[in-house]
Amino acid sequence: MKKWSRRMSDCIFCKIAAKEIPATIVYEDGDVLVFMDIGPIIKGHALVIPKKHYDPVTQTPDDVLAKLHLVAKRIAQAQMNALGADGVNIMQNNGTAAGQEVPHIHIHVIPRFSDDGHHWNWNAKKYDDFDEMAELAGKLRKHL
Ligand code: AMP
Ligand code: ZN
Repeated sequence: MKKWSRRMSDCIFCKIAAKEIPATIVYEDGDVLVFMDIGPIIKGHALVIPKKHYDPVTQTPDDVLAKLHLVAKRIAQAQMNALGADGVNIMQNNGTAAGQEVPHIHIHVIPRFSDDGHHWNWNAKKYDDFDEMAELAGKLRKHL
């Protein structure tokens, strides 16, 4: 892979990984950095990123993705142990259509509290009928 694809000069998360701009770091190892989200959905919200630039999830190597999720699991446990979180949302957006704002893969780890008052706009839809759902499942199966 070309060097530029691992470090994007205009990427804010690459700059955070390179310590060129400040972030409140929670965890760091050779491959992964965790820092506090500056605009938390719930206070304690953290972001898990690879130090190298990858995006989106489908272009991220499996070993990198596995490491990110293992670290996200540790952060979730810390949010429960240290912050008293009753639950945790682990989220990862890909593409502007999916609400992604920073195109450097990152996993949101968001502590949740029974009384935090936050509600996702989880507006569940209905299929027209069973066949419509089965047709979509069939299309997916053909591309696996
Ligand atoms: P997404 O919409 O999934 O791309 O999420 C991007 C997240 O990055 C948002 O939750 C922002 O609040 C967060 N963010 C953007 N810039 C910074 C920064 N400089 N430090 C910490 N978090 C940031
Ligand atoms: Zn980047």
